[in-house]
Amino acid sequence: MSVELPDSPAPTRLELDRTAGVTLEWADGTILTFGLEEMRMNCPCAECRGLREQNEPVWPRPRSPQPLEAITAELVGGWGLTITWNDGHATGIFPWGLFRAWRQ
Ligand SMILES: [Zn+2]
Repeated sequence: MSVELPDSPAPTRLELDRTAGVTLEWADGTILTFGLEEMRMNCPCAECRGLREQNEPVWPRPRSPQPLEAITAELVGGWGLTITWNDGHATGIFPWGLFRAWRQ
């Protein structure tokens, strides 16, 4: 994954399905859907980045509850999204540009 993120405005619509994933829609008509596992495994926080660098699984961990669920999703200052997962993880902030980069 590149660290060069495209600039992206906030989506005009955000839909969280706690057991499936997130759908984002932008003013330019782009609609992108992301599965929970895809997002959890690509969590951009320092802890998860460190795990990936060591080729350790980000998810599931030995005590991860399955299936994965999103407890809440919150906007972070208009530039991204943070999700509280059912395994207690909540430190990752997904910038809007990251979602666009994943589907470029
Ligand atoms: Zn993380």
